[in-house]
Amino acid sequence: MIANPITPTIDLDADGVGHGHLRLPWSRDDSAWGHLMTPIAVVKNGDGPTALLTGANHGDEYEGPIALYNLARELRPVDVQGRVIIVPAMNFAAFRAATRTSPVDGLNLNRIFPGRADGSVTEKIADYFTRTLLPLADIVLDLHSGGRTLDFLPFAAAHHRSDAALEAATLAAVTAFNAPYSVMLTEIDAVGMYDTTAEDQGKIFVSTELGGGGSATAASVAIARKGVLNVLKQSGIVAGEPEIGPSRFLETSSPDCFTFAEEEGLFEPMLDLGDEVGQGDVLARVYPIGHTGRVPWEVRARRRGLLAGRHFPGLIGYGDCVAMIAEPVEAASL
Ligand code: CA
Repeated sequence: MIANPITPTIDLDADGVGHGHLRLPWSRDDSAWGHLMTPIAVVKNGDGPTALLTGANHGDEYEGPIALYNLARELRPVDVQGRVIIVPAMNFAAFRAATRTSPVDGLNLNRIFPGRADGSVTEKIADYFTRTLLPLADIVLDLHSGGRTLDFLPFAAAHHRSDAALEAATLAAVTAFNAPYSVMLTEIDAVGMYDTTAEDQGKIFVSTELGGGGSATAASVAIARKGVLNVLKQSGIVAGEPEIGPSRFLETSSPDCFTFAEEEGLFEPMLDLGDEVGQGDVLARVYPIGHTGRVPWEVRARRRGLLAGRHFPGLIGYGDCVAMIAEPVEAASL
């Protein structure tokens, strides 16, 4: 097995607070012996579970990085029993460039897991998480938002797990995160996702979608910050009770929950996030922009539910995701 070339500049096992980098050799035109330096913080105090917290797996999603740079600055060892590993911008090159995928090799970090130690820069990052960081963790929280092209109701999400006890523990963590919405999510395509690798290793894994559009709001950041602290409290790493308010439970149990564009043009939303949707309702209209007088293509809902996600930019292209409809469920039935 080839060793991963990433070197942490801090001791991941030391008590106290460490602020450092995951240093990855990255030889290139403007820096022959250069490195990609991904910030990492570890806050550790004695024995206890390890939480691995990540943001900017996609580089244009901001609630996670804001919450985690804040947490890394504020969390003290005395507040912790166990260990918190914080990587606020997991795909740091993409984060710096404000892009979803890495400008280094064009790869989407969340589609190339488990990665390769002898691959390109992004594949090496994935491999380091797969073989070094994930095995240290008991609970894994990966904070996503919609990025520049999607917008979501703020939710924390779990996937169905083959192990019932693990699914219950995961749902407990999602419930503790306590975003305004909690979703049992069936992915469009789970192959190559960080989620899948973490779950294959038997970890409690929680992800989120906390907004989108390539920015953040005061409200979405507050949800992220509270959620992260709540999960740390629920797992016993940080003392105190999670702060719990109302959360509406949803699920996306079938491919009908997702709708994709079959025309391109000007995007007119007909419903907003959080609106009730009936089967056959018009979600959006797409106008051909090259002519006036043309009839727009109507995007209709394939199922009933709540509009939980939607296309964000003003123009839409062939194959873009138009909408995610989620079905309200009782928490107990998840
Ligand atoms: Ca994302």
